[in-house]
Amino acid sequence: LKIVELTAYHVRLPLRRVIRHASHARTETDNLIVRCVLEDKTAGYGEGVPREYVTGETIDSSIELLGRSDLPLQFEDCSDYCRAVNLAERLQLARVNGDERGCAGNAARCALELAIVDAYGRHFERSISSIVRLLTPALYEPRPRVRYSSAITSARGLKLRLAAIAFRMYRIAQVKVKVGIAGYDDAKRLRLIRRLLGKSIDIRVDANEAWKPEEVVAKIGELKPYQISAVEQPVPHAQAETLAEIRRQIDVPIMLDESLCSSRDAEEAVIRGTCDLFNLRLSKCGGFIPTVRLAQFARQYGIGCQLGCQVGESVVLSAAGRHFASSVAGLKYVEGSYDRHLMKETLGKEDLTFGKGGWAPALPGPGLGVHVDAEALKRVTIREVPLLG
Ligand SMILES: [Mg+2]
Repeated sequence: LKIVELTAYHVRLPLRRVIRHASHARTETDNLIVRCVLEDKTAGYGEGVPREYVTGETIDSSIELLGRSDLPLQFEDCSDYCRAVNLAERLQLARVNGDERGCAGNAARCALELAIVDAYGRHFERSISSIVRLLTPALYEPRPRVRYSSAITSARGLKLRLAAIAFRMYRIAQVKVKVGIAGYDDAKRLRLIRRLLGKSIDIRVDANEAWKPEEVVAKIGELKPYQISAVEQPVPHAQAETLAEIRRQIDVPIMLDESLCSSRDAEEAVIRGTCDLFNLRLSKCGGFIPTVRLAQFARQYGIGCQLGCQVGESVVLSAAGRHFASSVAGLKYVEGSYDRHLMKETLGKEDLTFGKGGWAPALPGPGLGVHVDAEALKRVTIREVPLLG
């Protein structure tokens, strides 16, 4: 069974409100959707969220990269799901100049890979969760439901109080707070947030590269009284090596996000000793399979993992994240499925928004186990580019 058609869509999805953190603000998101059709007309969808400040990709560069990659040559007849997964793992996009970290095509690769494993998954009636068992049985730990954490980005004043009250009423267990935003007093804010959320909620912070290496120890010291359980990407990626020394001076776990986009990044982090945790995000890391491999690598070296998400994921990446979170063992935090809370359009026929407590059920499949609404996709498509067929 072969792939006979492949199409890339540039879609623009509106958000419900402005989302702001230390390095960016947005009201809409430009995503890449890939549709893959097999010989028997089974169709699958994939998604990538290119972010220039994460992997250097833009929506245009990712579509262009797919267009100049030798994809048909890599597509072969697949007689079972195992072969399809092997094909998906071997997928290689064309080289991008100056891509020393091996991440410059990750959002594009993610969209392509998910579309392929979704299409074959539907045909062979296998869920993409089964990929975890196929690749790394030791990491496979299926669970009936997933608990998501929530986030406080730039809310302040009454909005911040209302968000905190909503989280308590909703019985959210973990909250991530964005810090390092210009004009905000983080310590004062964390004190208020801790008071509003109460003692039992797990609070962690994400600085999105905002701090200078020489100020990190003091910054974390100011936030420690409010029991933060981890600090995500305190310094810019270019200065990530300074985190090895910083870790010797603090006892709050450090998580890499912008500095963790590829297997090379992961090896670098282990060799230099720059972190305690990886933030794994499917689009950033090149798809479901490379992210499973990163989780496997992390476990081997005693590094904890968070499954993160990108702001603006549609139902496609939400579903892929759900499969990952409900089948990969040992995730310390899980983010995603904000769907209705965040998006005006999720492209899905199903609603994956997490419910009370942040809980959401595992998805059965086949494939991603959700259906893309073709009408909705048409409405938000800016550009459609045939890649094959
Ligand atoms: Mg982050």
